[in-house]
Parts: sequence; structure tokens; C-alpha cells
Amino acid sequence: MKRLLILGAGTAGTMAANKLRHVLGQDEWKITIVDQDETHYYQPGFLFIPFGIYGENDVRKPKRDFVPNGVEMILSEIELIEPEENRVKIAKDERYLYYDYLIIATGTQPRPDETPGLTDGEWRKSIHDFYTFDGAIALAKKLRTWDGGRLVVNIMELPYKCPVAPLEFIFLADWFFHEKHLRDKVDLTLATPLPGAFTKPRAASLLGSTLEDKNISLVTEFYAERVEPDKKVLVSYDEDEVPYDLLVTVPVNMGADVIARSGLGDELNHVPVDKHTFLSTEYDNIFALGDAAALPTSKAGSVAHFAVEVFIENFARHIEGLPMLEKFDGHANCFIESGFGKGILIDFNYDVEPLPGKYPLPGIGPFSLLQESEMNHWGKVMFRWLYWNYLLKGREMPITAQMSMAGKWS
Ligand SMILES: Cc1cc2nc3c(=O)[nH]c(=O)nc-3n(C[C@H](O)[C@H](O)[C@H](O)COP(=O)(O)OP(=O)(O)OC[C@H]3O[C@@H](n4cnc5c(N)ncnc54)[C@H](O)[C@@H]3O)c2cc1C
Repeated sequence: MKRLLILGAGTAGTMAANKLRHVLGQDEWKITIVDQDETHYYQPGFLFIPFGIYGENDVRKPKRDFVPNGVEMILSEIELIEPEENRVKIAKDERYLYYDYLIIATGTQPRPDETPGLTDGEWRKSIHDFYTFDGAIALAKKLRTWDGGRLVVNIMELPYKCPVAPLEFIFLADWFFHEKHLRDKVDLTLATPLPGAFTKPRAASLLGSTLEDKNISLVTEFYAERVEPDKKVLVSYDEDEVPYDLLVTVPVNMGADVIARSGLGDELNHVPVDKHTFLSTEYDNIFALGDAAALPTSKAGSVAHFAVEVFIENFARHIEGLPMLEKFDGHANCFIESGFGKGILIDFNYDVEPLPGKYPLPGIGPFSLLQESEMNHWGKVMFRWLYWNYLLKGREMPITAQMSMAGKWS
């Protein structure tokens, strides 16, 4: 029996397990997946919790429900990867799991402890986050009774998962305080290290003017160094200050500590891989999928989905000794909730920035690219159902893994 070991049963690991179980013969391949947490969180849903749109049970389900028959699931912390020995040490019974091929899908996590002052006395009081389940729940509680002031959303460092989520949060905050008849008492500011509202110039221009229309201030090239919780200011490396009453932060995002402990990561614990095939730059039997991989595209569930689609065919080639096809193009696809029942959709890859047009059917849509529409909002709403019922289970979706230019205009 050959052994395939998957580390992490989040979005990428679960999809890969489902798809590979179909492709690899049961009598030839033993597939094992390890995760420390028995609950699967639908992370895009964390955005809606602070505003009371989703509740706790809208975003979580048992991981086991999504692991297919014929895949062994082990619930344990992963302690160490020893690539020279082809083995992984897990905390449960201090066991070693041996592999022929390893897929690292341990994601990236918010690390508020990386920024001085962030988790001192004011964490979850005047400083909040919505990138974790607990954070989103605590922020919902805060927003229920908050009666206004300066709300600052800030991005600590690049890269962070779902680059559009902070924008969505601030758009929804604008809507939420309008609904509560509090908008004139709330000052909204987005402080970002980017030179604009987003990385890609055309999307940045549209999103920048959307912020302006909603009377949301944008502070660009703000590299936050620390927070002074007593003074309630966010301070940059240049000693510029952004004052707040309520800070909603996107903390530094880092790959799992086990990646660093095992000597497999870059400075943020993400695994260097070939950007088209996900093969480790160091080991011929290790791949990294999803947010765990150091790739020059967005860290997002949609990217994990397109990446896994491309990976499956390549993995089948690799184990047969055939060269892999340089097929993954960095395709990312993000619905951006813009408030008041509308949304914007962007679709791009390593080489092509977001362009206007219709998606997924050229000329028909129903979704509009780089444009606000109600249908885009419904796309975002519908996505949760697709995630639980199709994506995670590895079922085919009627969209291509590679970005298409059909239906786009420049
Ligand atoms: C607020 C928010 C909004 C988002 N919105 C969107 C969106 O609209 N669209 C979109 O495409 N994406 C969105 N994302 C991003 C998306 O959720 C992630 O990119 C996606 O989940 C990445 O999948 P992954 O498998 O790489 O990592 P994860 O799904 O995070 O899975 C990693 C798994 O590894 C496990 N793990 C890690 N370390 C260890 C260890 N040492 N031992 C054992 N297990 C371990 C974890 O428990 C976890 O289950 C959003 C994310 C957030 C936080």
C-alpha cells in the first residue's frame, strides 16, 4: 500500500481528500487526514456574524461529515514534519505517521500576538477581530451595544487571507449603522499598508470610489507597528497615528507553527512551492495546497478550490513519473459584499487583473464583474450552500479552474 498523508482538514485538505479518494485505488492507496479541530468553520461566514446576519450554527459543521469513506481521519495536533524521514509526529499517543506523499494544507491563521499592544488589556474590549469564530462572536456582542465613535478597520501586514474581507466588513458596517440610525455618529476609516483600496489597480480604483461614496476614509501605506491601547491609537513604523474608539483589526496572518518547527516555511511560515504545480521547492514528495502555500495570488477559498482541481490531475501524473503540467494560473474569484443588498465580483489570475464583464456565462452572467449588483450579493449568499454541499465534498462545479477571458472586456 502507498501512503498519502494530508495535514489539515480545512477547505483545501478536505476537497483534496474527497477528490483523491475517487482517483486513487482503495487497494493501492491508504489516505489519512489529520486535523486538531473537529469542527469545520465556513470562514467567509465570519464576516456576517458581527452584524447579526449569520449566527453560530450557520458557519460550523463537524469535519467528519465531509471526510469521505475510505479516508482515515485522525483528530490530533500535528507536532513535527520530518521530511528526511518521510514521517510526521502527531500529539495523539506521540505517534509517527509515515508517508510516501505528503500534502500540507494547514492554512494560515491570524496572530494578534505578533503586534505589540494588540492583545494587552483591551483585546475583545475596544480591540476586536472577525477573522476567527470567537472574534466574530465577541464583535457581534460589542456592536449590539456600541453607540458610535471612530471605528477603524486595519490590516496589519500582507499577505492575509481573503484580501477583500476588510473592505466588505467596512461596507457592511456602513450599512449596519445606517440601519441602526447611528451612521452620523460613526466615523469609518480603513487603514491599509497597500497604496490603494486593493492590490490590483482597476479593482482598487472601483473600490476606492465605493469607499468615498460611502463616506469612509482610507489611510494608505500605513504599516502598523504597534497599538497603544491606553491612548487608543494605532501607530505606524513612521510614528504616524490613527486614533480609534473601536479597532477592528486583521492581525498578521501566519502559517502553522509546525511548518516553522519543521524548517519548511518562509518568514511567515508559508511553504515555498512551485506556483503552477504546488510541489515543494525542496522535496519531491511534498505539496502544499491552500493558504499554507506561499503563492503570489490571494489566499482564498476560491483559490484553494481552483488549485485543488488542477492539482488532482498533476498528482496522478507525478506518481506515474510523468512531468506535471504547468497549469495553475493563480485564478482567484471573490464576491465582495458592498452593503445594502449589493455586491461586486472580481475574477483575476497571476497575469490578468480584474476586468469588467459577465461571469460565468459570457454576455449573460448572471454575475457582473467589477460592478455593483444585487445578483452579486445573491451569489455571495448562495455560496455558503455551494460550499457545504458541493465544494467541500469535491463535487464538480460548472466553472473552470483556469481563468477565462470569455465575457470580459478591457
Ligand atoms: C473573515 C474571512 C472571510 C473570508 N471570505 C472569503 C471569501 O469570501 N471567499 C474566499 O474564497 N475565501 C474567503 N476566506 C478565506 C478562506 O476561508 C480560506 O482561504 C480557506 O479556508 C483556506 O483553506 P485552507 O484549507 O488552506 O485553510 P483552512 O481552511 O484554514 O484549514 C487549515 C486546517 O489546518 C488545521 N491545522 C493547522 N495547524 C494544525 C496543526 N498544527 N495540527 C493539526 N491541524 C492543524 C486547522 O485546524 C484547519 O482545519 C475568508 C476567510 C476569513 C477569515
